[in-house]
Amino acid sequence: MHFTSGLKSKLPHIGTTIFTRMSKLAEEHRALNLSQGFPEFDCSPDLQRLVDKYIRSGKNQYAPMAGVMPLREAIAKKTFELTGREYHPETEVTITSGATEALYVAITTVVNPGDEVIVFEPAYDSYVPAIELSGGIPVFVTLDPQYDSIDWQLVATKITKKTVAILVNTPHNPTGNVFTASDIQSLAKLAEDHNLYVISDEVYEHIIFDGRAHVSAASIPSLASRTFLCGSFGKTFHTTGWKLGYFLAPAALTAEFRKIHQFLVFSVVTPFQFAVAEYLSEPEHYLRLSDFYQQKRDLFLKAVEGIGFITKPSGGTFFQNLSYQNLSDENDVALAERLTREFKVASIPVSAFYSQTVDYKTLRFCFAKNDDTLLKGAEYLQGVIW
Ligand code: PMP
Ligand code: GLN
Repeated sequence: MHFTSGLKSKLPHIGTTIFTRMSKLAEEHRALNLSQGFPEFDCSPDLQRLVDKYIRSGKNQYAPMAGVMPLREAIAKKTFELTGREYHPETEVTITSGATEALYVAITTVVNPGDEVIVFEPAYDSYVPAIELSGGIPVFVTLDPQYDSIDWQLVATKITKKTVAILVNTPHNPTGNVFTASDIQSLAKLAEDHNLYVISDEVYEHIIFDGRAHVSAASIPSLASRTFLCGSFGKTFHTTGWKLGYFLAPAALTAEFRKIHQFLVFSVVTPFQFAVAEYLSEPEHYLRLSDFYQQKRDLFLKAVEGIGFITKPSGGTFFQNLSYQNLSDENDVALAERLTREFKVASIPVSAFYSQTVDYKTLRFCFAKNDDTLLKGAEYLQGVIW
């Protein structure tokens, strides 16, 4: 008998991610790919040698479910040095398959059917599907991509009896905004007043500009005690393809997190964990990253000067938004596609980060690229016929 699929989609409104679509379009049209966020340059040869060393020395079987101990210890040490918060490597540090897995498991751990989660948008694309797959309801605080500050009183008005958690991301993809000390205090107070969990996406913790400091949710004890903190080495070591991330939370929360993590992936790639553990012993390897990327941001911003974009320099991440509202009325998706096809430079339309159809006439450009790629991208943008 002919098989007819009666499969009921769990994500009926979701298609293939914008990052996949724009990277594919860039490839098809041989355009410079400033869309999906990944470095054009390779990770350090020292780090590559470490992976090689551990592969050759037989570290090729399952890692412990929570991750290899040297890496858990190295993360605990780094976090203590940077935030003052002690996470116990045995019970409070877990190695994950990228931050994506950490976020997915954290959301699944916290959210039950009917629960509401406060989400700031523009939002990274994996948050909302994860909330919905657990039967949760995202409640949006909608911000303009060029927003200056968060109105925490407005955030408070979104909280109901059903709110279980608030999801934050600093430095923020795609706006490049970063939390100030006052933001993190407001978040801590809000979470405490309303007894909420906090899911904190800090994957760009080491890419922050103009002398700002990353304010981690781990840095305030009352906040850390209710926070599911998600990090990634993909951004920090130019290794997005390794999908190596981590998760920090107090022991009781971690215990619940691990119940799900163990059945999603069980454990993650062993020799890479040992390699990153050893590489982390030298703080220069992550503390220099902000300067490296700030130069790239500045190079790109200078090279697009004079075109007529409205720009607000990115405060962190490796993304720069350019608003073309003074140049064209064209819809951002149509423009991003046209620039890729006709002018050979791919970007991400910022509307893709919103739940409703919006168009702020803004494109996101990834500047984790070689300088000549950035200059060429800017030159192509200089030639655009609007
Ligand atoms: N959160 C944000 C804000 C990101 O930009 C990314 C990057 N891809 C992730 C999470 C996922 O990180 P990973 O690649 O480690 O899964
Ligand atoms: N974080 C990357 C970005 O924002 C994309 C990661 C992915 O493709 N899933 O561009």
